[in-house]
Amino acid sequence: MPDNLARMTESTGTARSARVLRMSQLFLRTLRDDPNDAEVPSHRLLVRAGYIRRAAPGIYTWLPLGLRVFRKVESIIREEMDAIGAQELQFPALLPREPYEATGRWTEYGDNLFRLQDRKGSDYLLGPTHEEMFTLAVKELYSSYKDLPVWLYQIQTKYRDEARPRAGLMRGREFTMKDSYSFDTTDEGLDKSYTAHRAAYIRTFDRLGFDYVIVKATSGAMGGSKSEEFLARSTVGEDTFVQCTTCDYAANVEAVAVPSPAAVSWDDFPAAHAEETPDTPTIESLVTHLNESFPRDDRAWVAADTLKNVLVVLKHPDGTREPLAIGLPGDREVDQKRLEGQLEPIEVEPMNDGDLARHPGLVKGYIGPGALGEANKDPKSSAIRYLVDPRVSEGTRWVTGADVSGQHVIDLVAGRDFAADGTIEAADVRDGDPCPQCADGTLEAARGIEMGHIFQLGRMYAEALDLKVLDENGKLVTVTMGSYGIGVSRAVPVIAEDNHDELGLCWPREIAPADVHLVATGKDPDVYAAAERIAADLAKAGIEVIFDDRPTKVSPGVKFKDAELVGVPTIVVVGRGLADDGTVEVKDRKSGERANVPLGEIVGHLTDLVRS
Ligand code: ATP
Ligand code: MG
Repeated sequence: MPDNLARMTESTGTARSARVLRMSQLFLRTLRDDPNDAEVPSHRLLVRAGYIRRAAPGIYTWLPLGLRVFRKVESIIREEMDAIGAQELQFPALLPREPYEATGRWTEYGDNLFRLQDRKGSDYLLGPTHEEMFTLAVKELYSSYKDLPVWLYQIQTKYRDEARPRAGLMRGREFTMKDSYSFDTTDEGLDKSYTAHRAAYIRTFDRLGFDYVIVKATSGAMGGSKSEEFLARSTVGEDTFVQCTTCDYAANVEAVAVPSPAAVSWDDFPAAHAEETPDTPTIESLVTHLNESFPRDDRAWVAADTLKNVLVVLKHPDGTREPLAIGLPGDREVDQKRLEGQLEPIEVEPMNDGDLARHPGLVKGYIGPGALGEANKDPKSSAIRYLVDPRVSEGTRWVTGADVSGQHVIDLVAGRDFAADGTIEAADVRDGDPCPQCADGTLEAARGIEMGHIFQLGRMYAEALDLKVLDENGKLVTVTMGSYGIGVSRAVPVIAEDNHDELGLCWPREIAPADVHLVATGKDPDVYAAAERIAADLAKAGIEVIFDDRPTKVSPGVKFKDAELVGVPTIVVVGRGLADDGTVEVKDRKSGERANVPLGEIVGHLTDLVRS
C-alpha cells in the first residue's frame, strides 16, 4: 500500500474509532472522596467522577467527560430551537457599556455585573444577559413589519458576579445560557411566538430527562405580562413554588398574588383604644397578654389578629438607601425573596439601629401605623413609606403598636383609623393557604431549580433602544419582544440530581458521555483481545464506547467502581464468562439488571439496546 494511502486509511480509522474513549488514555482521574465544598449530590458526583473541576468560586472547567455531556445537552436545546425556526447567532461576551447605559442596566445590575476597562480607559462589561444586543441587532438590520416575526437565539457564556455561587454549576458566576428573543409588531404575534417557545421548551425538557413543573412567574424589573418558569422539582432547589390541591394553579411563591378580602363596613365597630401592654415586644407575648387582660367574648386572640410592622432598608442600585415599613398579619413573616421579587433590582436589608435612630418617632417593639406612611409625616424625621399585605384590607380590625413603649392599640380599623401608601406581596406563602385561583383548593409548597424562563417582555427594550418598524400603513410602530432563557450548564447538575444513586451517576442515554462502558477484567490476553474487537465493532456501528482497557494491575473492583461512578447507561464486562461459556455480561446501570450474552451476539444486542 502506498504510504499516503496507508496514512489515509489510518486517519479514517482513527476518525471512526474516535468514539472509543480508552480509560488508559482518557484525561480522567476519579476521586474516592467528596470535595470539601460540595453540598449537593450532583456537585459531589460531577467532581468525583471527573466531569468538572473548580477554577475559582462559581467558575468551573469542563473535563472531557463533562464536556461531552454538556455538548449533548446543548445539541438537544439547539435542535428544538432550530425545529421551531429560531435562528442561531452569537454575540460577544465582552460588551461595550453604551447599550447597557441606554437601558439603565449598567447601573441597575449593581454588584452582579463584571465591569472592566480597556487600555484606553473605555468601559466594558461581561454580558450577564443580552437583551440590548439582540434589540440593537434587529434595529440595525430590519425596518419593516414584513421582516417580522423573527426569532433569534444564542448559546453563550454569561457572567454574573452572584452573591452566593452555589452547588457547582448550579449557580455559577460564569455559566452557559441559551437565550432567545422574539420580535413582533402586534400583541397577537407575541402570543404566537410565546406559545411556540413554550412548546419547544416542553419538548426540550422532556428529552433532557428530569422531573419539572411549569409555574407562573414574575418578570421582575423587566416588566411585561405573561411569564412562566420551568422548575426542576428538587429538594436542593433555591426556588419555592406552590401547587393547588384541586385546580391546575402552580406558581413560584414570588408570583403568588394573595387575594385581598372585600371591603367591610365599620359602622358597628368600636372606636380604637390604646391599652397598657407592658413587656410585650413579641407577637407571642402580646397574644398571651391580650388573652389574659382583654379576653374576647367570641374566641381567643390569635397572632393573625395582630398587625406586625417590619422595617427594612431598600438598597437601590445607585447606592441610595430608603427605609420601608411593611405591615402584615402577626402570624406571617416577611419572605425576603418574595419582597425582592417585587422590588427588583432593589436589594433589601434589615433596618439596623443606626437607620432606626434617624426616626425618633419609632418605638422598637411597639411600632404602629400611627408613625408610618406618607400621611403620618413625623415633623422630627422623614416619613417612612408604609406598604401593607393585601389581607390588611378596608374594614379589617387589628391590634398593633401604639408608638408608645408598653402600649398597643386595639380595634384599629384599616381605612378608618389608618391608611397605607399601598400594598405589597411580601408575606410568606404557606402550605394550606387558600388557592388564589379556585374556591376550594389549598396550596402545597415544594422546592425547585429554575431551568428555564419564558416571558413576554413587551416593548420596554424596544422603547429604550428605539426599535421601530414601518407597519402596513407606513406608520412607525414599536416592536414587541418575548424573552426565553434556558440554563444550559445548569441542566447538567439538574439532570444529575435526578439521575444518580449512592454509587454514582446514572445518565439518561441521550445525555450520557457514551452509550456503553466496556470493562475488560482479569489477566487473560484473550479477554483483552475480545474486548478490543467489541469496542472496534461498536464504534463502527456508531455506538459511543468508554473502554476500560487499563492493564491488569488495575483491579476489577476499581474498574467496576469507576464504571458505576461515571454512570454510562450500559456496562459490559468481558471477563471470566468468556472462558467459562463464551458470554459477556451486560448490566443496566440504573436498574442493576444483568444478562449474559454470547460473544457473537453482543454487538447486535448492544446496537438494538442503544437504538431502542
Ligand atoms: P435565578 O433566579 O436562578 O438567579 P434568573 O432569574 O437570574 O435565575 P434568567 O436571567 O432568567 O435567570 O436566566 C435564564 C436561565 O439561566 C435561568 O432560568 C437559569 O436556568 C439560568 N441561570 C441563571 N443564573 C444562573 C447562574 N448563576 N448559574 C447557572 N445558570 C443560571
Ligand atoms: Mg439570577
